[in-house]
Amino acid sequence: MAAEPSGIIEGGHGKAIELGAGQKIRLVNIHGTQVVDTWALNRRDMTEYLSVEQTRRMTGHLHPEVGDSFFSNRRNPMLRLVEDTSPGRHDMLIACCDKWLYQHYGCPPGHRNCRDNFTEALFEAGFDATIVPNPVNFWMNVPVEDNRTVKLATPLSKPGDHLVLEALIDCVVIFSACPMDVTPINVARTGLPSRWPIRCSSPSRSDVRTRGAGSLRAGRVSPQSPRG
Ligand SMILES: [Zn+2]
Repeated sequence: MAAEPSGIIEGGHGKAIELGAGQKIRLVNIHGTQVVDTWALNRRDMTEYLSVEQTRRMTGHLHPEVGDSFFSNRRNPMLRLVEDTSPGRHDMLIACCDKWLYQHYGCPPGHRNCRDNFTEALFEAGFDATIVPNPVNFWMNVPVEDNRTVKLATPLSKPGDHLVLEALIDCVVIFSACPMDVTPINVARTGLPSRWPIRCSSPSRSDVRTRGAGSLRAGRVSPQSPRG
């Protein structure tokens, strides 16, 4: 069994965490509006990964619901959403942000992005991956209007909302507290900072609504990350 996960993922940064089969992890959206891009790779064969495309087909859901499993590109269940205090609006349609997206928006080079967070976090944890799958974007609000249009909207989640994931196989999960500060996906209203820390812990701990920074193994620790 992997070590119990605990600590803070700094806003705009990522973290890779090993989970053994049956192990659970709780993510707390401390501020309430921080989107977390999430991936999972089979610990024993990293060519097998959580696939939102296969998951949508296997569950029939656009948004993951409590009790749903997340399936791999080989249609094996890898993770299960076992608890969710938010209104349940999570995205499985939109690719992670990357340097090309920020280039598209006219941002200067070097803008943090979830794609690089994925590779950096894996590398820091001693792993490598040859591809970057499309993630589950927890708390990302992407309403589908008229069965044909996807919108980028502000999150529906509230401060302290949390979710719990259970590993169904030995896996490495990668979280990226999305650094997006161009579109409104991370902010409740304009003028507020758009990058916030996420607390992760074992569900056996009772720190759901506490604030302040803990410490992750080899992780960055910051109670709040500045914009930009
Ligand atoms: Zn992102």
